[in-house]
Amino acid sequence: MAIWIKPVNFNDFDVFAAYQNLDSFYWTKGRDDIKKGDEVFLYIAKPIQKIMFRTVCIADDVSSKDKDWEKDKPYYKKQDFNDHSEEVLNCVDLKLIQKCDDDRLSFGFLKKENMLHDFTFRYAISNEKHKQFETLFQHIKTIFDEQNEIIQKIENETTELKGIDKLAYVKVRVNQTKFRTQLLAKYQKCCLCGIDEPKLLIASHIKPWSVSQDTEKLDSYNGLLFCPHHDKLFDLGLIGFDEQGKILISPKLEPHNQILLNLHEEMKIHVNEKHQHYLDFHRQNIFQAA
Ligand SMILES: [Zn+2]
Repeated sequence: MAIWIKPVNFNDFDVFAAYQNLDSFYWTKGRDDIKKGDEVFLYIAKPIQKIMFRTVCIADDVSSKDKDWEKDKPYYKKQDFNDHSEEVLNCVDLKLIQKCDDDRLSFGFLKKENMLHDFTFRYAISNEKHKQFETLFQHIKTIFDEQNEIIQKIENETTELKGIDKLAYVKVRVNQTKFRTQLLAKYQKCCLCGIDEPKLLIASHIKPWSVSQDTEKLDSYNGLLFCPHHDKLFDLGLIGFDEQGKILISPKLEPHNQILLNLHEEMKIHVNEKHQHYLDFHRQNIFQAA
């Protein structure tokens, strides 16, 4: 099955409203050889300039005269099909699967990361015919899959959340995932003990997420990567760090537990200037000095 990226002009077709109300929509085939089963990602042109929708082609040989246009009319702003009602156009039927709003799918980001070469989304491309965009196709799939995974987890965790709450929650979770991805790339292991099994590593905010400003929430200098034990100790303020990154162990943690947790006074993490005001916040507000 091929993967496609197809541009959509928001002035021609209101895909956002369609996503809310329609299960699938027809699209003229033109020269694109989209086949049933292919995945089609929609790039929303100016002023949005972002890949935002995942669809699957559920029929590839439908004729425009078979379509119930009344239902779809409100979304086709130019209504080309209605104007040429006697002309029969060859269409694909695209089922809307997923909406994803992530800055890593914006034209600016993709350009900056050298995934586009000189491509400007003026026409549709497929992974089978345009091999030079392999990285781009993989990148898109990864981000959509990542978001889908988060949504699935949220669906399982929070059936009681609905509507706007759920959207806000998804955004929070997407940001937490971004934060963790940044820290994993930066440290690759627990900052204290060196455990490097990714499944065990937790992105810990130095200044807690709940009291951080929006920019602080995503600032990688406000984060350390820890294994579960060290994350919990730091979170509870049973350990902290001085300005040089040397460990501070709270007297609230009994000596025998310090031994069992493999903590010793010589432990140190690497810190620089940009960590300082976060570490300071942690020492003042979280660390249990006495
Ligand atoms: Zn550790």
